[in-house]
Amino acid sequence: MRGPIKRIDLARDYERHAAVYREAIEQVCRETAFSGGKYADRFDEQFARYVGTRYACGVNNGTSALHLAMLALGVGEGDEVIVPANTYIATAWGVSYTGATPVFVDCTTDTWEIDSTRLEEKITSRTKGIIGVHLYGQPFDFNSVKKIADRHGLFVVEDCAQAHGAKYEGKNVGSLGQIGCFSFYPGKNLYAFGEGGSITCDSEEYYRHMTRLKNQGSNVRYYHEEIGYNYRMEGIQGAILSVSLRFLPEWTKRRQEIGRRYQEEIRNPLITMQAHPENTETVFHLFVIQVPDRDDFVKYMKEAEVECNLHYPVPCHLQKAYAGLGYRRGDCPNAERLSAHCVTLPLFPEMREEEIARVIELCNAYRT
Ligand SMILES: *Cc1c(COP(=O)(O)O)cnc(C)c1O
Repeated sequence: MRGPIKRIDLARDYERHAAVYREAIEQVCRETAFSGGKYADRFDEQFARYVGTRYACGVNNGTSALHLAMLALGVGEGDEVIVPANTYIATAWGVSYTGATPVFVDCTTDTWEIDSTRLEEKITSRTKGIIGVHLYGQPFDFNSVKKIADRHGLFVVEDCAQAHGAKYEGKNVGSLGQIGCFSFYPGKNLYAFGEGGSITCDSEEYYRHMTRLKNQGSNVRYYHEEIGYNYRMEGIQGAILSVSLRFLPEWTKRRQEIGRRYQEEIRNPLITMQAHPENTETVFHLFVIQVPDRDDFVKYMKEAEVECNLHYPVPCHLQKAYAGLGYRRGDCPNAERLSAHCVTLPLFPEMREEEIARVIELCNAYRT
């Protein structure tokens, strides 16, 4: 059964579970619980229990989650928040939406995540906090970041958009910092049938404030305490996510099996992989490798009908959107190197054995 291999194929999950997904949607329709409401609220309770926080505040996407987290933590005009250069751009958007400035810090050469040894040089009198990203499903070095944050009175927010269920010293990501931000964009480890997000925390004050902000700044309908947003989660997404949350442990197990096989069986000196420190449990959202001639490798895989993509081809500090901040090539050398050499291999829970074997075989046969 040789055919093209997609980087990710969500249709296989839908085919397998179509009946239960359709029933969940049908129920929301019958009760017309379309925006917020019973099914969104029920998912919040389930997700908080899953993550291990007192609260989960469902929102319309992960970018909104990051925005509300910044507002709840009092970030605004003139403030600075430190953000890794190697991440998806939305990590920085939440900071910018408040009028504050993201300050980009380089990544390490092994985990490819926020380099805690470079944090202190970025801290100024305007710095309010740090956003760490559990990138590609791998928890970042939380304790080192937290130690520096505490020394300077800064918050730590976790961007968990790629790491649902990942663990750091036995604790779920999203329960480590002041606030955790999740995305349920299709393709994330836990995903909605559209857009979705959640914000996790133990603080009742943050939770109440974010709940009001996502709901037009209102606790009581038509009475508005402050300028708010329409960032509510849709009922259909809540209902779908309640179903998918039950599948998540199985999906995670499968991702980990495939990820470990890649780690163990891909043996090519031209290929470098992300490090996974002992005190963490990765959930392999993306299996990113580095190769010297990235474009050549992508072409080679494409010729073999294997789809690969790039996470990410341009680091945040060099994005045109942030040209005004004055960064130059060379400011975050590790993130820049990664952006030039990264390739993401196919990995999703429904991958078939022969597909996994073919990806491994192709990687091992590359230029050898
Ligand atoms: C996907 C993602 C986001 C944004 O989530 P959306 O739901 O797409 O808005 C933020 N940060 C990271 C690291 C992501 O991967």
